[in-house]
Amino acid sequence: MATGFTSNLVVDVSDAEAATRFIPGQETTEEWAVIVVHELMHQYQGTFGKGILRRLLKTISVVSQDSLGAIFRNYDTLSRSVRRENQLLLGALAAPNSQQTRDSLTIYLRLKRAHRAYMRERIGKSFDELEDVHEILESGTRLVEYHLSKDLKQVTPFQPLVGFDPLYSSNQVEAIRQFSLETQGQYLWNVSPKYGYAIGFNSIRLLEKLGISYQDRIYARRRFSFEREFQRWIRAH
Ligand SMILES: [Zn+2]
Repeated sequence: MATGFTSNLVVDVSDAEAATRFIPGQETTEEWAVIVVHELMHQYQGTFGKGILRRLLKTISVVSQDSLGAIFRNYDTLSRSVRRENQLLLGALAAPNSQQTRDSLTIYLRLKRAHRAYMRERIGKSFDELEDVHEILESGTRLVEYHLSKDLKQVTPFQPLVGFDPLYSSNQVEAIRQFSLETQGQYLWNVSPKYGYAIGFNSIRLLEKLGISYQDRIYARRRFSFEREFQRWIRAH
């Protein structure tokens, strides 16, 4: 299941049975539906043709969309820095006051600038915009995934599907009943080689914690980035 980002966004979606065979941890129709909504969220993002979609298309005409994962695997300095940056974002999310939030964010931004300079120097290209765009795209999809997964246990079973679809769990599986960020939801905030997902998810949660309104700007504005939002917040606090 994936979205192909071209000027016409195309979503490839398998059926739920195929998903359980090929995607680790996928067992139910509900979990499949969460991924489908993730891809539909990308479709929504694609409607911002003058904003985020234009930024992405422009960026991937210069650097490949998948390059960040390969760089993460090949450059220990980068992967170490990104893991530390993610910890700092989690620290800011857990911080009990503005001072500690500010301290974590300040170090986060310093490390991010340093790893970007390192990438430019070692690879000879800037990946700044690709990182920003990837974080923006996957922050929204992961936030939707998180809220849907969290709320699944409260959904009233859709009776026509019970007994008809063997993968429809009607909230009866542990993965759905016990879902939380500390259990099955760890993948949402933990860094993987495709680090824009976790960095984006933690960044968007931090905007919400800090009370920064982003919803009308995140996809529409051409210069939106979490980095700029955090810098502005630090200057004001
Ligand atoms: Zn995605």
